[in-house]
Amino acid sequence: MTERYDTIIIGAGSVGTPTAYFLAKTGEKVLVFDELSSSGQGQNKSAIGGVRATHSDPAKIQICLQSIDIFSNWKDKTGVDIGWKKGGYCFPVFRKKEEDILRSILPIQKKHGLRIDWIDSNNLKNIVPGINENDLIGGTFSPNDGQVNPLLASESFTNEAVKFGAEFRYKESITGLITKERKVGLTIKGVKTKKGEYKADAVVNTAGAHASYISKMAGLNIPVKPDSHEAGITAPVKPFLKPLVVDIRPGIEGRTANFYFGQNLENRIIFCYTPLKIFPGENRQVTSEFMPIMAKRMVDLIPRFKNLTIRRQWRGLYPMTPDGVAVVGKTSKVEGLYLGIGMCGQGFMMGPGVGLNLASLITKGKPLLKQKVFDLLSPDRDFYSGKKEALK
Ligand SMILES: Cc1cc2nc3c(=O)[nH]c(=O)nc-3n(C[C@H](O)[C@H](O)[C@H](O)COP(=O)(O)OP(=O)(O)OC[C@H]3O[C@@H](n4cnc5c(N)ncnc54)[C@H](O)[C@@H]3O)c2cc1C
Repeated sequence: MTERYDTIIIGAGSVGTPTAYFLAKTGEKVLVFDELSSSGQGQNKSAIGGVRATHSDPAKIQICLQSIDIFSNWKDKTGVDIGWKKGGYCFPVFRKKEEDILRSILPIQKKHGLRIDWIDSNNLKNIVPGINENDLIGGTFSPNDGQVNPLLASESFTNEAVKFGAEFRYKESITGLITKERKVGLTIKGVKTKKGEYKADAVVNTAGAHASYISKMAGLNIPVKPDSHEAGITAPVKPFLKPLVVDIRPGIEGRTANFYFGQNLENRIIFCYTPLKIFPGENRQVTSEFMPIMAKRMVDLIPRFKNLTIRRQWRGLYPMTPDGVAVVGKTSKVEGLYLGIGMCGQGFMMGPGVGLNLASLITKGKPLLKQKVFDLLSPDRDFYSGKKEALK
């Protein structure tokens, strides 16, 4: 017999698990599928856990402000420690070019509610102890941003969703959608797996790197293409670094567009760079070039990093869109399908805010964000308009 739910969620990752939690909390009968063996095992666990509302796109700023509110109050609400560390985000600046970029977006960041300011080099040296002072001009600092442990977060969202009655089915891949033809377009009525058919009034695509494959099942061509990024983590050292630090200068080695790092709640330094030339596809094997390039950049910026011991290195995927902005909401072409996809390099920090808005859209017919702001993430937008987010 076909089972029936209010909402089915495809993907128990950075976006799917908080979406399940917020929906189940409203009393919805929720079923979540993941093809992997537990929640958070897709790209969620690749994230280094940075959570910032420091963006230049208004929708991303506001969604992430909601995420920060959820992450930072999670322990008080549920009693579960997910590793929230409020240390802020700091973007140090050494050249006029980066100063101009960061100063130019301060007005829009402030207008949309982000607490952020320009700080001079003396203040910056206090916030990032040991930073190389040569040519240091100053930078931006947003004190309310922070870090969370991604696996603890997805596990906790899952457990809390289950308390509200949500069901999770693992190792069960979505192979098709149950559809009904409309005069124009389709209505989605449920999902198919190798084990059976499951009906629902709403289906949410939160399938991360495989989101385009699911969208195509509904006849939608939404460009979400994965590319791969490497990260690493050190042995713990005495706590000294509060914020996550982002150096947006391209590296002189000609391989890196920027790099970022922080010290997590376990006192390990966790780090990542954005390659100048992207690696499209799903290759997740670590490379031998990552650590030498990364080590050089880190030691140049903070010389005392030369004493760190590297513990582990990994590679994961960014589900990218052509304009670098996520795709959230519903499309006019398909009834009953909701999207929380194309999260690029910010899906972990966006996840709770996206989940909160999707739950509101599904149960109340409108998002929590102002519609005009929410529409910046619309699946019906022109992905190739040439506009790209200044701060990726
Ligand atoms: C090195 C690195 C560092 C990063 N650091 C950060 C960071 O500091 N902060 C941040 O916000 N982001 C960061 N990210 C990006 C972040 O990891 C992703 O944007 C985010 O995890 C995407 O969330 P998602 O829910 O879309 O995908 P996922 O978390 O991958 O969830 C999608 C789920 O869908 C499942 N799925 C797919 N297809 C099917 C199917 N057919 N049937 C059933 N299940 C299916 C998958 O198994 C997966 O579990 C980083 C990424 C990398 C690689």
